[in-house]
Amino acid sequence: MPHHDFWSRNVSKKAQREIAATAAAIGVDPRAVNILYNTFFDEDDKLLNWVEDRDVPDADFAFAKAEGLMFDPIRLDHDELIAWVLEARESADVPAISNAFVASLGSGRLDTRSALGSYAHVLRLKRHRFVKDKNSDGCARCGIGKAGNTIDLSARNFRRLKWAGNVEQGDLEYVGTDLHQFAKLAPVSPSDGDIDILRRVLESIRKLPKSAQLSDLNKALTGLFKSTKQERQVVLEILGYAGILKPKGWPSFFDAWVPPSEREEPGHFYKKEWQFPSSGWTGKDGINEDAVSFWFQQIE
Ligand SMILES: [Zn+2]
Repeated sequence: MPHHDFWSRNVSKKAQREIAATAAAIGVDPRAVNILYNTFFDEDDKLLNWVEDRDVPDADFAFAKAEGLMFDPIRLDHDELIAWVLEARESADVPAISNAFVASLGSGRLDTRSALGSYAHVLRLKRHRFVKDKNSDGCARCGIGKAGNTIDLSARNFRRLKWAGNVEQGDLEYVGTDLHQFAKLAPVSPSDGDIDILRRVLESIRKLPKSAQLSDLNKALTGLFKSTKQERQVVLEILGYAGILKPKGWPSFFDAWVPPSEREEPGHFYKKEWQFPSSGWTGKDGINEDAVSFWFQQIE
């Protein structure tokens, strides 16, 4: 594809504002963020946002790599992928991950918000060898194929920066990318204001009636921090991975690694838009205070 087509994406004021804001938040040259966006996504294309074929010009790819936003893909087999994920988990700890999440509520920074979801997913994951699942070619414990995959770290990083991972949360390739990137960042401390937002988020959930459904859960957070409906859902899904929203009778990553085959599916169609396990939450489940104490020492 000619160079000018690549640079015809994301040219609207709205797209450029978003790119400039992301660049300022993470402290990189806006051109690098623009390249990352143009490679995968076109905000201005109302029919098809996703770019079908990755066609980043070499010089632009080199620029975004130098800024730390794009990367050469890596190839990892099952055992290497597990080792790579666990290495990243060990490089972080609960206070650093938690502080980044709490600070993100005030700053709106989605890449650092994402890390809690990734870390919580693999909190109890153990090193293991590939064991073939009875019903698929994947590993019975984690779902990854024996030969693994080529991981497009740049694509994973795009989703991390734009949506805090959203539907890729918990995918081990995403988890590894997210936590390895997190390890490169300077630690952040949440302000009193950020901690207060967290308190109000939790208090709003505690106050919901037993009859509350997922839509009520999302509405309860409206106005507590600057966010779209989709961003609030991702925050709530992260609280689900962390075991704070814990549907009764369902397994939780807070207690043990949950193999893909044990991740419950909600009965109602509309709940399928939510990720496991928050998809099974109702007001009766309230908040798991043990998990709140584990993750959020800031509000003790
Ligand atoms: Zn496995």
